[in-house]
Amino acid sequence: MTSRDVFLKYLAQTSTDPLLIEVEKADGIYIYSPDGKKYMDLISGIAVTNAGHRHPKVIKAIKDQVDRYLHVMAYGEFIQEPVNRLAVNITSHLPDKLNSVYFVNSGTEANEGAVKLAKRHTGRTEIVSFYNSYHGNTHGSLSFTGNEEKKYAFRPLMPDIRFIHFNQDNELSEISRKTACVIVEPVQGDAGVILPANDFLKKLRKRCDDTGTLLIFDEVQTGFGRTGKLFAFEHFGAIPDIITLAKGLGGGLPLGAFISGYEIMQKLSHNPKLGHITTFGGNPVCCAAGNAVLEVLTEPDILDKIVAKGELFKKLLQHDQVVEIRQIGLMMAVEFESAEIVQRIVHGCIEKGIITFYFLSNHKSLRIAPPLTISFDEIKTACSIIQEVFDKYVKKFHTKSSY
Ligand code: PMP
Repeated sequence: MTSRDVFLKYLAQTSTDPLLIEVEKADGIYIYSPDGKKYMDLISGIAVTNAGHRHPKVIKAIKDQVDRYLHVMAYGEFIQEPVNRLAVNITSHLPDKLNSVYFVNSGTEANEGAVKLAKRHTGRTEIVSFYNSYHGNTHGSLSFTGNEEKKYAFRPLMPDIRFIHFNQDNELSEISRKTACVIVEPVQGDAGVILPANDFLKKLRKRCDDTGTLLIFDEVQTGFGRTGKLFAFEHFGAIPDIITLAKGLGGGLPLGAFISGYEIMQKLSHNPKLGHITTFGGNPVCCAAGNAVLEVLTEPDILDKIVAKGELFKKLLQHDQVVEIRQIGLMMAVEFESAEIVQRIVHGCIEKGIITFYFLSNHKSLRIAPPLTISFDEIKTACSIIQEVFDKYVKKFHTKSSY
């Protein structure tokens, strides 16, 4: 049996069209196959390897921690230096009111914890979320995800959730004194990089203040430098009551967090005691990696260049068949006329050694989210190859389909 056969037979398949790239090794922005093929990774494992694959500082931190201890106890009992250090490090980059961290293992868990905390703190049950949002795939997060395609087969889900449209000021009145929390991605990621417009997040903040509702920013995808700032909310003049993180946080190891104020977070310690539980959350090896990745990403050289790198991509990806490019920092969606075109481009790029991907809730857009360490020359090389693929597959597709 080939490794491909084993993968298809023994691993649960969820995709009808898996990319099937076999991985031998990964380094920087490159992934290598056992057959010697080298791929430029323009999706970072879906916005995870923001400092590149196997950054030497991250590898060293992991190895040093492995030599000390791995898992020693479930969350919240033992004092572990890398975990303490990461909590201090992250909160030092956040506004004062976000000063207490609960570490979990993934984005969906971070959101589950955040929403539980909001319900417990406010004593309310209603949750407001947004159409086309993505917050994760466990039952709770799926319930407040605004993508019906992913939900219908799993009902009944959580009750008491209202959905409103992103960027629609007139719908903010749906948030009321019954609402425990609003959960929102400051830039909608899986909807295909939809940016907030006309101070929408400031207006949302104000409505939450007026109604005593907690505002949760899901920065699982936008966090850790992806948009050109360490956290996306820094662009938009609105500070959440709870922020959720994952993906880039562990530098390639599984780590998530929800972060709020000390007073709010205290509610998880009584009525009931152990108000949120995780065995592995805040794993010391993952936190050691998190400390290293935070150090790398806050070196001025990286964050300062992200805006220019994103703009270079945007300029070089223009094409007469591209409908629109939506972009902030190195989080980009290149929209075409149809999902079929995007599918051909993704596969065409792989043939030429470039990894791009789709979006969960926007099938007409091509996802580009490379490691933030990508160089300007690498961007030029990547875009000239992608342009060849656009020329070959988009035009070919049009010619074919028009007959
Ligand atoms: N929130 C957002 C905004 C995300 O993009 C994702 C993952 N795509 C999640 C939550 C869920 O994260 P995870 O897959 O780690 O559970």
